[in-house]
Amino acid sequence: MKPYHSAKAWAVAAVFLFATAAFAQQDFSKVEIKVTKVSGNIYMLEGAGGNIAASVGEDGIVIVDDQFAPLAEKIQAALKVITDKPVRFIINTHYHGDHTGGNEPFSNAGSTVIAQENVRKRLESGGTAGNGGSIKMENKPASRASLPIITFENDVTVHLNGEDIRALHFPAGHTDGDAVIFFPKNNVVHMGDDFVRYGFPFIDVAAGGSVQGMISAMEKAIAMLPPDVKVIPGHGALSNLDDVRAFVTMLKETSAVVQKAIDRRQTLEQMKQAKILAPWEKFSGSFVNTDAFIETLYNSLTGQKGKFVKHN
Ligand SMILES: [Zn+2]
Repeated sequence: MKPYHSAKAWAVAAVFLFATAAFAQQDFSKVEIKVTKVSGNIYMLEGAGGNIAASVGEDGIVIVDDQFAPLAEKIQAALKVITDKPVRFIINTHYHGDHTGGNEPFSNAGSTVIAQENVRKRLESGGTAGNGGSIKMENKPASRASLPIITFENDVTVHLNGEDIRALHFPAGHTDGDAVIFFPKNNVVHMGDDFVRYGFPFIDVAAGGSVQGMISAMEKAIAMLPPDVKVIPGHGALSNLDDVRAFVTMLKETSAVVQKAIDRRQTLEQMKQAKILAPWEKFSGSFVNTDAFIETLYNSLTGQKGKFVKHN
């Protein structure tokens, strides 16, 4: 079991908490980009916001996600240490601002952004992300330069650096536009926020996410992957499939407990008061604490998704 309560995990959660609502006010000047070689020609970049995967090779660079706009120069500088070649493509795992914030500066520098079509729709309209309860985060409509130029419904493959880099859509997990990115030659996968290491996950039920979808996405992905694949989570440390399995087990067990309470006609308030998720307290974080996760599960399982109120 990895330390979910490490200072780093909290920092990641705290950064994410402010990611969409108030990142403009956040101070990124102290953020350093840490580069880790994952395998072969795949690197993982950590700074603030979601983890970045980078395929670096003779054809150029493909990155998965791009954190926040003010970090784009630092990300470019970190990549320059590995190669002089340009970032040709960016694949967004989903629409949240801590994964797509760099789209505009990277696009302006000549990169092409690729994403599932719901990512483009939600970036374009803006709206309120949330768990259908106490967590709500405002997203302003994104600028034209931030929008993915190439979209796909189910999957897309980028043939670069001698690898068939494949993005596959998994509907209704963390959001309704999640893609998992496979690097088959290097035996690496980027899970987006369908798998995170900061404790109970944020599930954007207002944007079509659900715990059932997250479980099914991760079970399908596990079935497609070799046992020794290196797993880049949406947030947190480099992982393996056992870590993903432990995460799925937690999602299934906690969902079953909340479903039982729903079947007994307990109200959301009663579930919180009865502390029905007490055995999973170690997953409680500063961003998604136990009560917020009970809300998430309750809203997912009863289909009370709240509204993704669009800006116009
Ligand atoms: Zn997210």
